[in-house]
Amino acid sequence: MSVGHLLFESTFFPQKQVLEREYMIVGGGVAGVSAGFLLRNKSLALCELSDRLGGSASNRAFNGVTFSQGAHYDLNYPSYFGQDTLQLLYDAKIIEFDNLTQTWRFIDKKYYIEEAKNTACLYQNQFYESVFINDQEAEQFLNIVEQFTGRLPLPTRLIAPEYQYLDKISFTDYLQKEKIPISETLQKAIDYQMIDDFGGTSEEISAMAGLFYYAGRRYSDDRFTDFSPPEGNSYFIRKFVQYFPNDSIFLNHLVKKITETKTGFTVEVVDVVKKEIVFFKVKKIIYAGHKHALKYIYPEDASLFASNRYAPWLVVNLVFDKNTFNDEAFWQNEILTGKKGFLGFVDSFSQYTDNKNYRVLSAYYCLAESERKQLREIEKYASKIIENTLLKIASHFQVKQSYLEKKLNKSFLKVMGHAMPIPYSGYLFQNKNTNRSNKNLVYAGVDSGRLPLFFEAVDSGVEAVQILESYL
Ligand SMILES: Cc1cc2nc3c(=O)[nH]c(=O)nc-3n(C[C@H](O)[C@H](O)[C@H](O)COP(=O)(O)OP(=O)(O)OC[C@H]3O[C@@H](n4cnc5c(N)ncnc54)[C@H](O)[C@@H]3O)c2cc1C
Repeated sequence: MSVGHLLFESTFFPQKQVLEREYMIVGGGVAGVSAGFLLRNKSLALCELSDRLGGSASNRAFNGVTFSQGAHYDLNYPSYFGQDTLQLLYDAKIIEFDNLTQTWRFIDKKYYIEEAKNTACLYQNQFYESVFINDQEAEQFLNIVEQFTGRLPLPTRLIAPEYQYLDKISFTDYLQKEKIPISETLQKAIDYQMIDDFGGTSEEISAMAGLFYYAGRRYSDDRFTDFSPPEGNSYFIRKFVQYFPNDSIFLNHLVKKITETKTGFTVEVVDVVKKEIVFFKVKKIIYAGHKHALKYIYPEDASLFASNRYAPWLVVNLVFDKNTFNDEAFWQNEILTGKKGFLGFVDSFSQYTDNKNYRVLSAYYCLAESERKQLREIEKYASKIIENTLLKIASHFQVKQSYLEKKLNKSFLKVMGHAMPIPYSGYLFQNKNTNRSNKNLVYAGVDSGRLPLFFEAVDSGVEAVQILESYL
């Protein structure tokens, strides 16, 4: 909100310097940083509005303990996933190939979550091992959706045309058409997973997104698949940026306006800390920031993204004393309701860390799009949200809220109004770059027709560089 106000004031800010670069990247989320990794030997400026990189995969730290404020895991990649993106992850020394399983594995094995500590699901006051409570129906459902295993690679741009019809119908319509029996609890379980990964219910998202969830990534035939460092997916950001030249990253820099010139672009950037304007003269741009702001920044292409829909998310990190709860810890603590709102929490005690002085519970809320407006007044609601989260955690662990309040050292609330693009029917397979208005300005990010997943974000950065370099 404060940056929004600053934007109005910025008209009166002094214009401090003019910098020249060949490439500008707008946005330091996974997509922007991945593109930057490929351009690391070029003359580059990456501008990020926040005081840290990561976007929806950023982190926070408190007294030496780092924890995720958004995206927090990924899974092993099968060998049929996109080779360009796998190569990038290999070059950044993040993954290695396992000949035995024909799967790419993460090099830092200590960050795999042990199966026994993986999931606890709370449904109507009882704990279960997964959201699938009715085994028989769930088994039947999984058998049907898993038929697509091996056919739906990531990035989604590699999915064969014969399967692309699955993007044209909703997941619910698909399940009904296939006459798959879905009980009320199974429906809640499916909706939980769709909201958790895609920000929408099975009615809101496409069959392609839903089927990808179950068939696109391996879930069951490997002992270790969930890779989750304590800082979440900002781990990958750290791995990428260590190769960047010192003068290439501009934090607290908001890209305000892009104007075409004879030789490239002039980009007006607000240094939100120094309250100054910096002008960049650049030849090529990768725009990996949120697309709903294009109407102000580069209106020429705003219409390309007009049909995007975003789910707002809140992340609450609660930093407790290490001895607040008993030692039993599950990584994902899922609260099954089948509705948007509080989805559960991740417990740092299930992750590998050198620092166990605190126990951090990171709670996740996926909100309805209609609730975004209320986020404008978040400062008014913040303490209430923390209190409600504490209440939910207290009932989960069957302790008193007042006890938790005493054990709580600090709480953080991250608000993301346009957090996750919802992959509704018709969202995928429209390459926004085909109709862009300037060949030297290319789009990346999961909100450019991609599933909201780490591999897609990386690949959108890879594809953007490929397009810029070859003028596709
Ligand atoms: C709560 C949550 C949990 C998630 N969990 C997972 C998970 O566990 N695993 C997974 O694979 N995916 C997860 N995702 C999906 C995640 O969004 C993607 O995997 C990926 O991180 C998206 O990266 P991105 O670069 O496309 O977008 P973003 O992360 O949104 O990055 C865009 C960046 O651009 C910056 N920016 C925007 N406009 C400007 C501007 N004008 N000037 C300067 N900077 C600007 C923003 O500040 C931001 O840093 C999660 C998403 C959310 C919201």
